Amino acid sequence: MTSISNYINGQLTPPTRGNYIDLVNPSTGDVYSQVPDSDISDVEKAVNAAEAAFAEWSATSIEERSRVMTKIADLIEANLERLAKAESLDNGKPIWLAKQVDIPRASSNMRFFAQAITQFATNAHEMTNAINYTLRQPLGVVGTISPWNLPLYLFTWKIAPAIAAGNCVIAKPSEVTPMSAFLFSEICIEAGLPKGVLNIIHGDGLKVGAEMTKHPKIKAISFTGSTRVGAEIAKVAAPVFKKVSLEMGGKNPNVIFADCEYEKMMKVTMRSSFANQGQICLCGSRIYVEASIYEKFKTDFVERTKAMKVGHPSDDSVNLGAIVSKPHYEKILSCIELAKAEGGKILTGGEAIFPKGYENGYYIAPTIIEGLPANCRTNQEEIFGPVVTIAPFRTEEEALQLANSTQYGLSATVWTENLGRANRMAKNIHAGIVWINTWLLRDLRTPFGGVKSSGVGREGGFEALRFFTEPKNVCIRF
Ligand code: NAD
Repeated sequence: MTSISNYINGQLTPPTRGNYIDLVNPSTGDVYSQVPDSDISDVEKAVNAAEAAFAEWSATSIEERSRVMTKIADLIEANLERLAKAESLDNGKPIWLAKQVDIPRASSNMRFFAQAITQFATNAHEMTNAINYTLRQPLGVVGTISPWNLPLYLFTWKIAPAIAAGNCVIAKPSEVTPMSAFLFSEICIEAGLPKGVLNIIHGDGLKVGAEMTKHPKIKAISFTGSTRVGAEIAKVAAPVFKKVSLEMGGKNPNVIFADCEYEKMMKVTMRSSFANQGQICLCGSRIYVEASIYEKFKTDFVERTKAMKVGHPSDDSVNLGAIVSKPHYEKILSCIELAKAEGGKILTGGEAIFPKGYENGYYIAPTIIEGLPANCRTNQEEIFGPVVTIAPFRTEEEALQLANSTQYGLSATVWTENLGRANRMAKNIHAGIVWINTWLLRDLRTPFGGVKSSGVGREGGFEALRFFTEPKNVCIRF
C-alpha cells in the first residue's frame, strides 16, 4: 500500500516519527492508503524551512511570483483527470463533480491570485505639509488549515493569496482527504516553486493544527472548518494577538416566495440542497416556502428528490456519491433520528443506502423533513449532509425572522421576482453572502465569509491579500 508524504523545504518527506493514519475510501469502506500522523517536530521543520525561504520569496518580484503560480494553475489543469479521481477516492464525491467544480476551481484560485497580486495597490494620504503612503507587507510565515468537503478547492483558496502576497506557508489539509494536497505538492515541485515557500504538513487536527496555532513564529492562521474548532483557534490565538481568519459552519436559509421563477428555483434548489451530498458550507439546509405555493413545492421537491440517484462516485449517472467518512455518516444518521424524535416527518429518504457491490460504503438517501419548529435542534444545528427541512411562511417579516433565527450567518438564498422585496431581504438577512435567484454563483473578486458563528474576517479578492499583508503607514514631512 502506498503512503503519502509531507512536503517540507521543497521535498517529499516522511513524518519524523514514522507514524501514519489509515486513509479510507468512503465509497467502499476500505483502507487504501496512509497519511502521515505528523506532530510538532514536523511542524518545527516546516517553520524553519518557511522562515529560511521568506527573505528571498518576499523580495521576489511580483511578476515572478505570478509566473510560478500560473505554472501551478496550468499543471492543475493538465492533471485534471488524475486530481479529480484522487479527490473522489478520498472524499466520496462523484468524479464528474470533482472534474466540473473542485479541480477547475483549484486551478482558478491559483490563476486568480497570480493576477490579483499584480493589481493590488495601496493608498496615499496627502496633507498640506506632508504625504502619507501605506505599505502592504507580507506577514512572514503563515498557517492555513482546511477541511475535507472541498479539499483542493479550499486548500488552494488560502495558499494562493498567501504566497502571492510574499508569505511562506505551512498548510494543513484535512487528514480525512489529504490525497489531492499531496498531488499538489508534486505539482509545486514540477512548477519550480522555490523550496520552503509552501510546506504541507499532514496529520491530525490536535497534533498539527493546534501546534500551528500555538507556534510563535506562525504569524497568522487562515482556517476553514467547524465552528467548534474555529472557537478553539480563536481562544489560542487571541492572547498572543495572532491574526486569524475563520470560515466556519452554516445553517443557511433558502427562502422561496410565491412570485419566483418556479422552474429555475426548483432546479437550483435541488443543487443547493444536495450538491456534494449536502456537504457544502453554503448549502441551503432550511427551506422556507411561501404558504400559497407550499403544497405544490413540497410535491415537486419530494418527487424530484426521490428520483435522485445515489451510488458509486465513478458512475457518471449518480447525483450523490458517498458521505466522506464513517464518523460523519453516523453523525448524519443520528441527526435524522433526532429529527424524528423531535417530531419531524420524513417525506423522503431518512435512511442509509447500500448500493450493490459497495455495501460497506457510506451512502445516505437525500432526505426532506417537515413539521419541525424553527427553534428545534434539527433547525438550529449544522448537519452538513443531504438533509433539509421545509416549512411554510406567510409574510415577508415572518420569512426574515425565520431566516435569521439561528446562531449562524454564512449565506442565504432568496427567490423572488419582486425587486423591492429582494433588496429588503438582502439588506436585513444576517449573512455574509446573499444570493438572489441563484446559488453558489461565485466571482472570486467578491468578499467571502460569514457573520455570527459562521465567521470572522473575509476571504476573496483583495480582502484575502489584505489579510495576508500588514499595512504600515509612512509619513513624510516636507
Ligand atoms: P473541522 O473543524 O473538524 O476540521 C477542519 C480542519 O481543522 C481540519 O484540517 C482539522 O484537522 C483541523 N483541526 C481540528 N482540530 C483542530 C484544532 N484543535 N486546532 C487546529 N486545527 C484543528 O471541520 P471539518 O469536519 O473538516 O469540515 C466541516 C466543517 O467545515 C463544517 O462545519 C463546514 O460548515 C465547515 N466549512 C466552512 C466553510 C466556510 O467557508 N465557511 C467551507 C467549508 C467547510
